[in-house]
Amino acid sequence: MEFVARRYDTHCPVSVRIENRHIRSIETLNGTFSGADLPWVAPGFVDLQVNGYGGREFADPSLSVEDVAEISTALDHDGVTSYLPTVTTHSFETLRRAMATIAAAGEQSSDVADRVAGIHLEGPYTSAEDGPRGAHPVEHVRPPDWDEFQRLQEAAGGQIRILTMSPEHEGSAQFISRVAETGVLVAIGHTSANTDQIHAAVDAGARLSTHLGNGAHGQLRRHPNYIWDQLAEDRLVASLIVDGHHLPPAVVKTLVRAKSPERCILVSDITGMAGMPPGRYSNSSLGDVVVAEDGRLVIAGQRQLLAGAARPLRDGIANMLRFTDQDLRSAVEMASTRPSSLVAREAARLEPGATADLTIFRLPGADGSGPIGDLEVFATINAGKLVFGSLP
Ligand SMILES: [Zn+2]
Repeated sequence: MEFVARRYDTHCPVSVRIENRHIRSIETLNGTFSGADLPWVAPGFVDLQVNGYGGREFADPSLSVEDVAEISTALDHDGVTSYLPTVTTHSFETLRRAMATIAAAGEQSSDVADRVAGIHLEGPYTSAEDGPRGAHPVEHVRPPDWDEFQRLQEAAGGQIRILTMSPEHEGSAQFISRVAETGVLVAIGHTSANTDQIHAAVDAGARLSTHLGNGAHGQLRRHPNYIWDQLAEDRLVASLIVDGHHLPPAVVKTLVRAKSPERCILVSDITGMAGMPPGRYSNSSLGDVVVAEDGRLVIAGQRQLLAGAARPLRDGIANMLRFTDQDLRSAVEMASTRPSSLVAREAARLEPGATADLTIFRLPGADGSGPIGDLEVFATINAGKLVFGSLP
């Protein structure tokens, strides 16, 4: 397999050759050929927070291995080559079943195994307070429990890669250090923790802030508060939902500057409503929800209360260019190499020898030639296979 495209980082036209699962060679095309009409090629997009797609949710008690396979391959259309199925707060039995089903899907299907880089367990050890709790059901929120976590990890076949929790519960620091020692990335999220609790969590090994700026109180004491505390903590990388609805543009710009672009990653946090046409739907945990024409996902009957996210990760890349002074390379790396390096054995790279997980896309204005348009995926290559689109 061979194609010609422009590198997302150097903007140089290149010819990329793929053999079996790997990038065999990348040859720069010199001379008078500018390649300005070529699509971009980048390491495949990596989404660390996907709750579902196309009407299916990983936290659904009736989740099947077929559902996992369908969600996994549906993400090919959005240029996502690897992702973390994300399971939110629920009863032990529902969580255990979800872990076992996702693990079984990976064992039964190479399509799933090539796409699922692990599981993100978001909860159930989160804040019970309204605001930070988000849409997590209060009756299932609980303090951290090492024995329960081990049983869930066992059901998952060791595939839990990220645990999002709030360190506001007693015994959190000790729990975090035990979890971090097993190689699981501990993230702070859905939290109302104070300054000391956040410091203790990071000292114990927490390394990520989950969707910083969301899953928070509507009104917050000016300082200190858990947003400043996490922003200023250089040992924490921050994941951001930059779908144009969860964070206002000025907040995205400010968070990226304060945190530094190297410590920011993009997540979609899409629910099962992603990939559904605009309309009203009944949702098991939230009642009726509406997918608006502009992609905003809200509780039915109003526009303010979000019912989660429904826009793919690629929208976050385009929005990052619109809302901040970051360039294409930086915005793409927030959605590919950087999240990948947090969870994968082999981080995504556009280099010979790397696994051929690549996204080829068009993004008007990305080279500074005009206003930023929408990122459209031209082709997706997963482990050396063309799984979406056609080669340029
Ligand atoms: Zn969340």
